[in-house]
Amino acid sequence: MHRLGVIGWPVAHSRSPAMHNAALAALGMEDWRYQALPVPEELFDETVRALGRAGFVGANVTIPHKRAALALAERSSAAAQAIGAANTLSFASDGTVVAENTDAPGLIAALEQLDGLPARPSALVLGAGGSARAAVWALREAGAREVSVWNRTPERAERLARELGARMVSKPGSADLLVNCTSVGLERSASEPEGLNLLGLTFDQVGEYSYVVDLVYRTGATPLLAAAREHGARTLDGLEILVAQGALSFELWTGREAPLQVMRRAVRARMDGGSV
Ligand code: NAP
Repeated sequence: MHRLGVIGWPVAHSRSPAMHNAALAALGMEDWRYQALPVPEELFDETVRALGRAGFVGANVTIPHKRAALALAERSSAAAQAIGAANTLSFASDGTVVAENTDAPGLIAALEQLDGLPARPSALVLGAGGSARAAVWALREAGAREVSVWNRTPERAERLARELGARMVSKPGSADLLVNCTSVGLERSASEPEGLNLLGLTFDQVGEYSYVVDLVYRTGATPLLAAAREHGARTLDGLEILVAQGALSFELWTGREAPLQVMRRAVRARMDGGSV
């Protein structure tokens, strides 16, 4: 049996097992299984070390372990090192752990769905956490003309911008592409104006962005995506980003082309809330 999984804490509501098991089934890979691996922080290192011996080929890593995954690995990609986090581990037969970050190239791959997006767009990233670091790095690598970063806590945006070659802004300004990498929108209780206000935006300001991506996913549109669609912007939701990073991890472990439509259907069939 070839085993795969997603390590997180908590991880019970992750859509990754449904997405990857659907892909494995569609390709007739009957001796492969993908499972949720709930692991608290204090057990992360010893659990990861044991996975290779237990028949695991690889694992995704999600909150709160992405930094620890990079620190533990013997080898890591340039992307994972620059971002400072890994979401994908592979276990070599000699026990070596290899770390990769597919969040960044996944975002770039997903952007190809945005018809008409300029080849070198200007971009504004909201947030300064782990996913914002991956997004800023990816947009710079992909040749974005300019990448600005806004965050509720400006000091964090300033540091991120300095480390990754972006520009910190004290309030969201106009850009071709807006990427929300904060967790705002996850809470269903906030109204649309409240949700936008937490991002430093008004409904009218959202109209300044022709392309809007929200990493948050939940049942129904987030306040940001709802406003962007009302303005006629082209949008991508967090499930598309989830599928894009998952597809790259899948291809890394299996060497097979990921069946994107199957994976999309699997994550969209389970709209009961959850995380990567
Ligand atoms: P993180 O490292 O914890 O960062 C959270 C960010 O959200 C910070 O910038 C934080 O600002 C901001 N924030 C939190 N609450 C806020 C509020 N009430 N008002 C304004 N800003 C607020 O998290 P992350 O790993 O980057 O993930 C961020 C979101 O992206 C999560 O919802 C996660 O589920 C989602 N995500 C989706 C995918 C996908 O595949 N679709 C992949 C990765 C992440 P401060 O610095 O001021 O605290």
